[in-house]
Order: sequence, then structure tokens, then C-alpha cells
Amino acid sequence: MMPFNFNNTYLNLPNCFYSVVKPQHFKQAELVLLNNTLATDLNINIEDKEAVLNQLLGLQSNTTSFAQAYAGHQFGNFTMLGDGRAIVLGEHLNQLNQRYDIQLKGSGRTPYSRGGDGNATLKAMLREYLMSEAMHYLNIPTSRSLAVIGTGETVYRESIHQGAAVARVMKSHIRVGTFEFASYFTNTTELNALLQYTTQRLFPELTNTKNLALSFINAVTDAQLQLITNWMRVGFIHGVMNTDNTAISGETFDYGPCAFINNYSPATVYSSIDSLGRYAFANQPNIIKWNLIKLAQALLPLIDDDQKKAISLVQELFENFNINWQNKYYAMMLGKIGLQENNSLNRQLVDELLIIMQQQKLDYTNTFSSLCYHHPSFELISSNIVIKDWTNKWTNSIKSQEIGEEGAKLLMQKQNPVFIPRNHLVEDALTDACLGNFSSFNKLLAVVSNPYVFNTNLSDYLNAPEEDFDANYKTFCGT
Ligand code: AMP
Ligand code: MG
Repeated sequence: MMPFNFNNTYLNLPNCFYSVVKPQHFKQAELVLLNNTLATDLNINIEDKEAVLNQLLGLQSNTTSFAQAYAGHQFGNFTMLGDGRAIVLGEHLNQLNQRYDIQLKGSGRTPYSRGGDGNATLKAMLREYLMSEAMHYLNIPTSRSLAVIGTGETVYRESIHQGAAVARVMKSHIRVGTFEFASYFTNTTELNALLQYTTQRLFPELTNTKNLALSFINAVTDAQLQLITNWMRVGFIHGVMNTDNTAISGETFDYGPCAFINNYSPATVYSSIDSLGRYAFANQPNIIKWNLIKLAQALLPLIDDDQKKAISLVQELFENFNINWQNKYYAMMLGKIGLQENNSLNRQLVDELLIIMQQQKLDYTNTFSSLCYHHPSFELISSNIVIKDWTNKWTNSIKSQEIGEEGAKLLMQKQNPVFIPRNHLVEDALTDACLGNFSSFNKLLAVVSNPYVFNTNLSDYLNAPEEDFDANYKTFCGT
């Protein structure tokens, strides 16, 4: 029995949307990591490891692998892209008939590689594995990592690296950029084929709606608003929210320069190439709106034949975007401080706390954790004279709620993770792992796989890094 139950549908789309391509042949490939839990959840049979490796490398397959065409706005500029170093090996169906792309990233050149080598470094693929698993256990929709494969090849970047590939699992890799590709480079029939296909696959409940394109944009907007709310909840900065990295499914993906915030500052940026702060922590809601408008622009011809009318329908749709965002954002943030009522008085408490956190350079995760656990940071935070005032007001609001202090605590504990993959710990774990020592990587992975259970025995994982760590911390894109 083959490990995967492949059943491809993407190849039914017009052939401008993909190129049939096989992974590069890696003679000395070996499995570095295999995600048993994920494999079990998806009914992937991993008993025979060699068969798993062979199928992931495209050596033994009963289906056709392909690279997807797409375009996208990168830092605001439009470019033709496509899977330059990734290949969809197949669509796996689990026992419930749910469909997942199994994609190999770092799998060699494709017709969309442009100047790139099609490869990836071990460090970057291990990083993707760790960060995406952390996001999953934070209860945030995300691509997941099934395996990391050492390719046995050398990859040249600013220095020499071990090569690797990650087997990435997603409901679908269709992105805003796929629709932009269709809009710029194909005709309306092909654009419509993509819309019909994506609806069937990701939003089947919309199939018979009156204005499908409009309902589709609405559904993607809902999924993305939910996603960004979750990112803001846990202090996640994606780092490269180009339209080709915005999934229609509402899953987080493309773990390049992402990182978690330590001391709260809305302008936090870690990405080495984001010098203007386009993808800064607090700018993520604005950027998702921008990306969704790009999706809407791509779909204009399917909204109405009369372009003016189509534009006015889209404008109507986006009219409430900011209010919707504010409502969702505050509902979530109020949960983080244990308040149920989404009113202006409570919202003010959120705003005031964030200002204090920024001025006092308080850690995002630990400040919220200290409100609901007897956290090691509690003394430090509560002894702060500025926060005392705020705490008095906040305690009064908590006490006046029907759910009481215990109910508020439960609410906060659901919203506030205790453990995040702290940047300094991630870097240490990756450095060790690349030298062949996986103990710190595995320990960190175990800790971030249980992020909502407070445990003082793990104090090393609770602490924020030294204050000047962030000032010098940089993350990188396509490594
Ligand atoms: P990303 O920053 O991962 O979203 O990548 C942007 C585009 O560059 C995508 O089309 C990638 O497939 C492509 N790309 C990134 N790295 C490489 C590489 N090493 N070789 C070929 N294409 C790449
Ligand atoms: Mg990408």
C-alpha cells in the first residue's frame, strides 16, 4: 500500500495554471524529521519509511506532480512568479475524503524558477517545520510540515549550507496571486474556471450563490480577517505578506522571515528586507485589506460585465471592512484581558494597556499571561507603577462581569498562550540541529506543541530574551 492516497484535481484546470514537473533527483536523500501525529491525523501510512521517502521524492508515484503558476504583488509591485522551488506531489484524500496538497518545497528548479536554484537550506526548512507546527498548536489555521528531507546536496547562499526540502501540507496552495495570474495572463473563461474550481474545493457551500465572485471575495475576506486576528492575538509577524503568500483557504503559509514579537511595539519588523515596515506587526490588517482588494480587482470581470457596476459592488463590500476588523480585533483583545462586553469603555482598557506595554517595553506574551497565571513575570509587571493604575480599573471591570473572576481567567487562558517559539530559542535550536544535535530542537518543539498549559518548570522557555536581542535580530526570506 502506498503511503499517500493521491487523487489530483488541479490538473483538470486549463493547463496555463501549472507545469508538469518532477522533483530533482537527490541521490543521498534521507528523512530528517517525520511528523507522526500529522501522518496519523491524515491517514498517511508511514510504516514503511523508505516508501514514504520515495513517494515524497517523486520516485514512486501513481500520480502526476506539478508546479503551480501564479503572479503576485511583492512589496506592492506586480511580478510573474510561480512555484520556483516547490512541486505539488499530489492531492491526498484522508478517510473523510478531505483533500490536502502534499507539496515538496526545495525540490529543485521548475519553469518558474527565474534565476533561483530551486533549493532550500536545512536551517530554513527546519525553521518552517518548527514555526508551522507552533502555529498549529496555537490553534491557528496553517500549512503543516509532514517531513524534512536532507537532500545531501550543498546549497550556496551568502555561505555554504546543507540542502533540504520540506513536505508541506495545506488544504490548498491557491493564493490571491493565482487569481492575479489568471486576471493578467489568461482570459475570462480561464479565470472563471479557476473561480469555479476553487469554490468547489474550498467553499462548496457557495456553489449556487447569485453573484459567485462577490460571495467568494466575501468568504475569503472572512477567513483572512479571522486569520489576522489570530496572528495579532499571539504576536505573530508574518514578515512577507505579498499577495502570493496570502492563501485563499485562510491558512498561514510561507514561513520565511516570520517571527514572534517580544517587547510590544506596533512597528516591530524583523525581516531584513522590510526596511519601510510595510509588513510591521500592526500593519498586518491594512495589508490584508490591500491584498483582498487585489483579489477583488482580479475578479472584476466575473462580478459584472459592466466594469463600473462591478467596481461599485466591490466598493460596497469593502465599505465595512474597517468596522468589521475593529469588532473582531477588539473582541479578541478583550478576551485577552478577560472582558466579554465589546463596548467603548472596555476597548479603551485594551488601548491603554497597549500604550503602557509599549512605553514600558513589556513583553507581549508574558504581560497577558501574567493577568491569568501566577507567572514569573507577574512581580515585575505588577510592580510597575504605571500599570498599577490600569490594573485597578481593569480589576473593577472584571469584578462587575457576570462570569466573575474565575470565568474571566478561563477566557484569558484560552486566548493567551504561555509559550511561543521565542526567536532566541529558535535560533539556538536551529544552530544545534544543523550540527546534528536535535535535543534542543525537539525540546522546543515539544514545548510549543502545548502552548496553553502553564508550567513553571519550563521557565527557560517563558523568559523573554535580553533587551538588546531584538534590536539586532533579523530574519530572511528565501533561504
Ligand atoms: P517566497 O519569498 O518564498 O514567497 O518566494 C517568492 C518567489 O520566488 C516564489 O515564486 C518562489 O517559488 C520563488 N523562489 C524563492 N526561492 C527560490 C529558489 N531558491 N529558487 C527558485 N525560486 C525561488
Ligand atoms: Mg511564497
